[in-house]
Amino acid sequence: MQDTISANVAAVQARIAAAARRGGRDPSAVTLVAVTKTRSPAEVEAAVRAGVRHLGENRVEEAEHKIPQLRLPGVSWHMVGHLQSRKARQAAGLFDMIQSVDSVRLARKLDALAGERDAPLAVLIEVNVSGEGTKYGFPLSDRPALEAAVAEIAGLRHLCLQGLMTVAFIAQDPEEVRPVFGGLRALRDDFRARFPQVDLRHLSMGMTDDFEVAVEEGATIVRIGRALFGPRM
Ligand SMILES: *Cc1c(COP(=O)(O)O)cnc(C)c1O
Repeated sequence: MQDTISANVAAVQARIAAAARRGGRDPSAVTLVAVTKTRSPAEVEAAVRAGVRHLGENRVEEAEHKIPQLRLPGVSWHMVGHLQSRKARQAAGLFDMIQSVDSVRLARKLDALAGERDAPLAVLIEVNVSGEGTKYGFPLSDRPALEAAVAEIAGLRHLCLQGLMTVAFIAQDPEEVRPVFGGLRALRDDFRARFPQVDLRHLSMGMTDDFEVAVEEGATIVRIGRALFGPRM
């Protein structure tokens, strides 16, 4: 298992680097988050031994069981799935970054929890770019709501807003989702001009089936499960 996962990590890193160069970008500007949902602790440890430093989970229930039993110094954990408000307390204690902030109410709650813990929490705002396929995220079409969310969340004292995240729809051909990734990048560029005081450095976009297109379009974080660990049962 270690050999397989090590080879997969190396292959994915090489594909990320090649896509970055095609997009005229520095490969080191792209962070690989290994999405470990459904994977065993041994598989997670194998990925870390292979050099992965960022891990992602999409459900608090699973993360609550998995993360505390793994002692992985120097590794950070990312919440990438929909987060219910009533799970926010556990999530604030488990994760270094919440990528899936999809309401101002959730952001306020996370801010209060991070304040209680006296530990700043990194967050991304999830955007539903295509308006289809994904249920979560601020719709791209509601620009006023998005602007209000960025303005308020950037001002929350215990959160550190670092950018935007999206989940594209499932496509036969990854070229079909290129406009989704380009759309998120264009939004980020607009917001950089509109909110120069906010460091919107991250664009989290791209998964196993479409990460190369996402990197060509400017992804700084890709979230990859199956290309590293194989198909999910
Ligand atoms: C599962 C998941 C991923 C990784 O998906 P793969 O297709 O296995 O690469 C990425 N992002 C989110 C939000 C996920 O839930």
